[in-house]
Amino acid sequence: MIKRYMTFQKNNGIAPYIWTILCILPFYFIFQAPSTIEIVVGILLTFVFFILYRIAFISKGWPVYLWTLILIGISITASSLYSYVYFAFFLAYFIGNIKDRIPFFTLYFIHLISTSAAINYNIVIHEKLFLTQLPFVIIIWISVILLPFSIHNRKERGQLEEKLEDANKRISELVKIEERNRIARDLHDTLGQKLSLIGLKSDLARKLIVKDPEQARNELKDVQQTARTALSEVRKMVSSMRGIRLKDEIIRVKQMIKAAQINFVSEGDFTLANVSLLTENILSMCLKEAVNNVVKHSEAKSCFISVEQSWKETVMTIRDDGVFKVAPDMLTEGHGLIGMKERLEFINGSLEVLTKGGTTLIIRVPNDVKPLEKGSEND
Ligand code: ATP
Ligand code: MG
Repeated sequence: MIKRYMTFQKNNGIAPYIWTILCILPFYFIFQAPSTIEIVVGILLTFVFFILYRIAFISKGWPVYLWTLILIGISITASSLYSYVYFAFFLAYFIGNIKDRIPFFTLYFIHLISTSAAINYNIVIHEKLFLTQLPFVIIIWISVILLPFSIHNRKERGQLEEKLEDANKRISELVKIEERNRIARDLHDTLGQKLSLIGLKSDLARKLIVKDPEQARNELKDVQQTARTALSEVRKMVSSMRGIRLKDEIIRVKQMIKAAQINFVSEGDFTLANVSLLTENILSMCLKEAVNNVVKHSEAKSCFISVEQSWKETVMTIRDDGVFKVAPDMLTEGHGLIGMKERLEFINGSLEVLTKGGTTLIIRVPNDVKPLEKGSEND
């Protein structure tokens, strides 16, 4: 319970205290009124204000605007009769929460003009109680100008972020559907056709077995061959679906670099933690393409590959001491570097290409599985 209270305080800062003071404060001003009737009217107005304020928050459609106009009326009355301008702050907060642009601007200007008029009126008539709190009045006036915009913008940004999150979820759903379709297509094109061929050929062999045993044997040989091809295709499909781990890929690229008679130096741990399988697959593809380029284009003597993992990102560096071949139509002809960049952007990663004294590729990807903070396991 205490912990929950502390969390509440931490999340809201001093805002709850300010709201509480602003709720109690009107009574201080009301009790300074000269007659009992004014005090009673003041207390009633305050209660009506807070009740309508609550109703306005839970209402929808046109009543919201009606309640807001009544609240503005009460705020002006309280400013003029009791020198209490702080209801304007509540209203500024409420108007900031109005979503639609036109009602927002309309109510914003009505509120701003009416509050400014009430403040000026009090200044003109030299209301003593009012003038003693002038610095606070100025703060309230500035809040009336700025607060609605700040809240309105924050809400709009929140809505955009929500939309973006929805879109991302939708994209990942579509990616899954597309992947399923691809698997279905592959199964149909490879296994489906091969199995129906096996069916046809074995049927033919069964019919020929008495009439022409030699031909039947040939057909059965075809059946065996087709079954083998199908099996190897299925194996290929499964291994391409399973994804490539970086620690497996590094073994393959090491062999490739050695075969090209380039010296190989590596640093860091290639068994990654805190990244998803998708991210690791993309890193493996990038490593493969980068090393392909080193072997194909660089004419290097040595190649250095390192992986560094911090709490927030994984950085992979592939450096060679050859010469970067700048083809004039480099970015239109080759697909390697562009493909790498696009794949990395998909997972919010980045690719940096440095071409001084050889070629250095710096690949950064954010960790998508955050390590557990110390102590959080105990909560
Ligand atoms: P693809 O990768 O589509 O087979 P590619 O290798 O030519 O074709 P990219 O991988 O995009 O295309 O590389 C673009 C160009 O950048 C290369 O053609 C080459 O001129 C240059 N390049 C890339 N990496 C290196 C490297 N390590 N050393 C020297 N030149 C490089
Ligand atoms: Mg390439």
